[in-house]
Amino acid sequence: MAGSIDVMLRELKLETVESLPDDFDPTTVINDPLPPVADDCSGINGERLVKGKEQPREIILGRNVHTSCLEVTEPDDDDEITGEREAQMASVLARYRRSLLERTKHHLGYPYNLDFDYGALSQLQHFSINNLGDPFIESNYGVHSRQFEVGVLDWFARLWELEKNEYWGYITNCGTEGNLHGILVGREVFPDGILYASCESHYSVFKAARMYRMDCEKINTHISGEIDCEDFRAKLALHKDVPAIINVNIGTTVKGAVDDLDLVIKTLEETGFTHDRFYIHCDGALFGLMMPFVKLAPKVSFKKPIGSVSVSGHKFVGCPMPCGVQITRLQHINALSRNVEYLASRDATIMGSHDFVNELIEKRAIWYENGKLKSPCVASEMGEANCLCVLHK
Ligand SMILES: *Cc1c(COP(=O)(O)O)cnc(C)c1O
Repeated sequence: MAGSIDVMLRELKLETVESLPDDFDPTTVINDPLPPVADDCSGINGERLVKGKEQPREIILGRNVHTSCLEVTEPDDDDEITGEREAQMASVLARYRRSLLERTKHHLGYPYNLDFDYGALSQLQHFSINNLGDPFIESNYGVHSRQFEVGVLDWFARLWELEKNEYWGYITNCGTEGNLHGILVGREVFPDGILYASCESHYSVFKAARMYRMDCEKINTHISGEIDCEDFRAKLALHKDVPAIINVNIGTTVKGAVDDLDLVIKTLEETGFTHDRFYIHCDGALFGLMMPFVKLAPKVSFKKPIGSVSVSGHKFVGCPMPCGVQITRLQHINALSRNVEYLASRDATIMGSHDFVNELIEKRAIWYENGKLKSPCVASEMGEANCLCVLHK
């Protein structure tokens, strides 16, 4: 990680990049060369010191801060000032890049890997690449990169010891999406299951519980941040008859604690939970990609009774935009997609519902074709052209 900023600064050749006209004064466009850091503007007057003591940053709901934002200006009808606008845009971007460089100089990196160079991919910026829906089912959208996505997934499945014909997965938009998906799969397998997660788990785990309206038991941790399996055992014993969905942390966000997966499984077994009555999702956003390469580190493997593993792509790997990887067992996805079989689609991802809408439109035509069923009006949601009600048919 170290040294990459120097390289970046050198390669950007700051003195040569700005080709603005000599008479153009960028300070007339933006007064503030470097936007203030967010918490500079948190106090009423930006004051954070009271009697020489730093005050905790206040977060006031319902009061949005707009001081550090740039205004979007809409172009006029007459195009005479286009040249000026382009120069203005160049200035805005040059300043933005300078502020990024400045901020990056003080960015320690952790937990992000800053040592990356994806310059070779810049030639792909001109295409509207989109891997809609399930990476293993070709869609009719041709500008995709599935060949790469599936290759990456194969690699991860091998890393976590799951056969090609036994896994399913996709590239997510972030670590949170991996957790949302893993816990969703768990809930689809056990619709009445209770979610167990240590109190050091990432907030996205509890967000999933709220989104899916699941009962959730928070488990105490040791001082290290690792899940306390004695407390886990006690809480499992309270709900012996209800299937368990467990979030296991492979690196907690604050303390970097790794839950003892083997002990979690042993605790489940000893409390009377057979393998067909629990589902384990491993949140490996932080360390999931590091552990397999550390000698003597506890092993995450699908040879153990786990249901899914997710990792982050923009932390350890170093990816300039947020992303992640989610891997689960194919049998679970088949269970999940059976639930939506009436759509004749495998809508298995969280994002990327465009395919799904198109399929739904096509299917509706079949459902209502013989006239026995009357279609409800969906014109306001899906447009008149897609509506099959008496009025819009
Ligand atoms: C960072 C992190 C996440 C969430 O990742 P995002 O990409 O920010 O959504 C989830 N779990 C853990 C343990 C993390 O450290």
